[in-house]
Amino acid sequence: MVRVHELLTDRKTVSFEFFPPKTIEGAVALTRTLNDLQAVQPSFMSVTYGAAGSDRQRTADAVVAMQRERGTPTMAHLTCVGHRRHEVEALCDQYAAAGVENILALGGDLPADGSAPPPGDFRFASDLVDFLRADGRFSIGVAAHPEGHPRSPDLADDRRNLARKLMAADFAITQFFFDAENYLRMVDDLSAIGCDKPIIPGVIPITNAGQVERFASMAGATIPDWLREQISAAAPEDVEQIGVEVARRLSQQLLDAGAPGIHLYTLNKSGPSLAVAGQLFAASF
Ligand code: FAD
Repeated sequence: MVRVHELLTDRKTVSFEFFPPKTIEGAVALTRTLNDLQAVQPSFMSVTYGAAGSDRQRTADAVVAMQRERGTPTMAHLTCVGHRRHEVEALCDQYAAAGVENILALGGDLPADGSAPPPGDFRFASDLVDFLRADGRFSIGVAAHPEGHPRSPDLADDRRNLARKLMAADFAITQFFFDAENYLRMVDDLSAIGCDKPIIPGVIPITNAGQVERFASMAGATIPDWLREQISAAAPEDVEQIGVEVARRLSQQLLDAGAPGIHLYTLNKSGPSLAVAGQLFAASF
């Protein structure tokens, strides 16, 4: 059984997200990380896609290699921005031929340098979901933003769009957040408008104060005052330990409240994610 939505009916999942390495050193480090994380028997793994398709080939190469060489289902992230139908078709064919059965359909980030992306055939993630549903070969995941998408005019509008998109897909994975209430409120809001598909919370173990501020401002995630104070009072070498404890506590709370699994943003490092998942695994999985 390698389709994520089927795994979710079986037991609570633990999954890990990676970015495709850009250098030989990065590839060696990722291999080491993947080897380390085998200790907690991941349910599935996922590989991100660069802004406006900038990592297209690197993502495809990493997904295909991980799917073929490891016994763990690997999910490819795929974005709308700057993509033509025939390009998405070619990627889907490549994935299906390699045995990849899971795709995370995303709107996609805009190019980091502020340039206009090339023209594309898909506007919203839901367009990509419809395309993949018609294709029929994949279990389809989508992104959910517990605090609302930063470009949304208001939360209710974002929830309606998310519900429509998720009803056509199989499951969602969230942007990271630090307060379990953000996730629980979103699940309740969606349920109230008739959407009860599984939503896996995405959890980030903080390893670096500056980095989390940058990521949070891009993702529209709030860093609570208590956490910001704890991190700024800590010596840099102690931040990782705090990050692990905060992520472990949050994950446990979410699982206890009924979350179907935990998706850890690894940033290609094994230590913090292993520490979080290892403790949860012993207690919950
Ligand atoms: P959409 O669902 O298209 O939503 C984007 C905005 O449009 C929202 O405000 C939504 O409310 C609105 N909207 C949606 N449908 C409609 C409609 N029909 N009419 C009007 N408004 C609408 N980015 C990458 O580039 N590469 C990655 O690998 C990547 N991985 C991610 C993984 C996860 C788990 C998450 C949570 C995010 C990831 N992202 C990634 C970021 C994501 O691409 C961005 O947040 C992007 O800006 C929005 O993506 P989306 O899929 O939510 O888009």
